[in-house]
Amino acid sequence: MRRGRKRSKELSYRDKKIINRLNSSFDTMSQLARKHGISKQRIHQILLRAKDFGYVINRPRLLARYHEIHRCEICSRILQVPESDALITKRQLSHMLNIDRQVCSWHLNQLKVLGFVSKKFATMRSDRLAKALQYYRSSSLSPSAVGRRFGYKNFYSLLSYQRKRGIVVERTANFPIAVVLEQEGRDTVPPPMSQTQS
Ligand SMILES: [Zn+2]
Repeated sequence: MRRGRKRSKELSYRDKKIINRLNSSFDTMSQLARKHGISKQRIHQILLRAKDFGYVINRPRLLARYHEIHRCEICSRILQVPESDALITKRQLSHMLNIDRQVCSWHLNQLKVLGFVSKKFATMRSDRLAKALQYYRSSSLSPSAVGRRFGYKNFYSLLSYQRKRGIVVERTANFPIAVVLEQEGRDTVPPPMSQTQS
């Protein structure tokens, strides 16, 4: 049942995609096989063929030992994201930088391990919560108003939970402080600093 083999001069679009994935993600061969509905052996064949065509196969895992943050393009892009944008999920970060999510996480982790980036950076789990917190931080609305807007019944307790995690949810004061006090007066909001753990 062998398919007619034309000797093509290049890899097919699909095969190139697979090679790209192999080089830029942590997808295993079996995962790629499943994704494309082909066997693992077939992936292996594609890999060999790609090598014949002069493609370089560089699995990120294999590169780990030689990873140098100051020379790494992905790391330098992550480092360019301001720390004030810490309230994001890893998904949002990888979207923002247009990098594969797993690849992005891997480099982010390297940066964290070596202390280049705060451990709290991009640790939000939910896109919606991240957006709500970002919004809260830059707006002058009360926690309950922000909660309503994003569909959280008890946004205030989410805020204190994040503070306990050491996440800075305090607002960047771009507006007259009087407005904040007035609007927050309706809720029982403690002074911003009282919740931070030491
Ligand atoms: Zn890197």
